[in-house]
Amino acid sequence: MHNAQEPAADPAVDIFASPLSERPLPKRSMPELPSPPPVVFQLLRNELLLDGNAAQNLATFCTTWADDEVRRLMDLCLDKNIVDKDEYPQTAEIESRCVNILADLWHAPSEGDGNAVGCSTTGSSEAAMLCGLALKWRWRDRRQAAGLSTDRPNLVCGPVQVCWEKFARYFDVELRQVPVEAGATGLQPHQLRDHVDENTIGVVAILGVTYTCTYEPVAEIAAELDRMQAESGLDVPLHIDAASGGFIAPFLHTDLEWDFRIPRVASINASGHKYGMAPLGVGWALWRDQAALPDGLVFHVDYLGGDMPTLALNFSRPGGQVVTQYFMFLRLGREGYRLVYQACADTAQYLGRQVADMGPFTLLYDGVGALPAVSWTLTDPDSVGWTLYDLSDQLRMRGWQVPSYPLPPDRQETVIQRVLVRHGIDRDEIELLAEDMRRAIKHLNEGRPRDASRVGFHH
Ligand SMILES: *Cc1c(COP(=O)(O)O)cnc(C)c1O
Repeated sequence: MHNAQEPAADPAVDIFASPLSERPLPKRSMPELPSPPPVVFQLLRNELLLDGNAAQNLATFCTTWADDEVRRLMDLCLDKNIVDKDEYPQTAEIESRCVNILADLWHAPSEGDGNAVGCSTTGSSEAAMLCGLALKWRWRDRRQAAGLSTDRPNLVCGPVQVCWEKFARYFDVELRQVPVEAGATGLQPHQLRDHVDENTIGVVAILGVTYTCTYEPVAEIAAELDRMQAESGLDVPLHIDAASGGFIAPFLHTDLEWDFRIPRVASINASGHKYGMAPLGVGWALWRDQAALPDGLVFHVDYLGGDMPTLALNFSRPGGQVVTQYFMFLRLGREGYRLVYQACADTAQYLGRQVADMGPFTLLYDGVGALPAVSWTLTDPDSVGWTLYDLSDQLRMRGWQVPSYPLPPDRQETVIQRVLVRHGIDRDEIELLAEDMRRAIKHLNEGRPRDASRVGFHH
């Protein structure tokens, strides 16, 4: 018998006969002695299986499939710290190319001149913090110049992702979340007047509402803010949270004006690691021009003897995600992104038709016109005898992760289900999901014993 604390001296010993694999892994303190990497690797790999299968995770917007070349580039970039512009000047150059490509894609005035204003971030959340801060500083500067109070800034938005709640709390801004009207899935232009005032640092419109996957009407929201300015003089900038839609609309909805084509749009954020198809850990923040980004937020570092402006909450950050974002741009091109997302949208709409035919559901979003996704609700939740949570549980038994959750405040009595179709999810997989849904519904209709705590979602 080995002493369990002693690593296997003989490298030929089978992994599952090694000392480390003979007992539960240490969980509260570090082991005294080292172990062979292949043993530790295999044991952790087994443990990670409990996380579920990413390909069946239909809840996440984030990248779950990658080309082999992406994995190899990530490996090559393991040592690249994006903050060290001097040590890794080419990674910095690639970041700047990505910013310029996005500025071009989103029609910034800099289009093509190489002077786009923006940066990579860890995700849309960090980008939201930076863009929110820019709004706050610009508002403060305007107010101070006019000799007015700067005590009570507010940000007006619809059913935003939690990152905006974080921004508001961390940076002391009142978040004015406009309630979602019955029948609507996001902020409506006519609602703005009741919420925007002289202390509004900006309005956030969402291209791809997290709950339902629809787009908020950006151009109409901007037009309403134009009318309000004409009437009252209040000039309120618009920020677009395009976390997901920023990489869909430029390829599938080219006629939709949601970006810097609209003069009121001051800044845009997007998640490279969602429909950008880069691996987890990259987002993008872009500003219309230099004037939209107060200089006080930018730190200047020496860069190969020159000046390199930097803007980020963290200092060290991995460079591989940015390099692989550039790989995806080069590898797919506009046409490649379009083809991938047209296929995803077709598959989402296909699922939408199946779901509509199943009987008990009403579609909230059928996959047409916004993100490649579908969302639905029970048409008559009180009469079916089971809940969407029960259906999620049934599907989970086959490995599918299909989330059920209530809509945001004011429509929270409505529970919905949502499926996202991403790069890597194919038609056959969705066909298998639809079959499993029909089977689960039949099973639930036949009267599985009720779980009292789950039945009847009430507030
Ligand atoms: C996902 C998401 C975010 C947060 O993005 P991360 O990249 O996960 O930080 C913000 N807003 C919207 C609309 C999102 O969908």
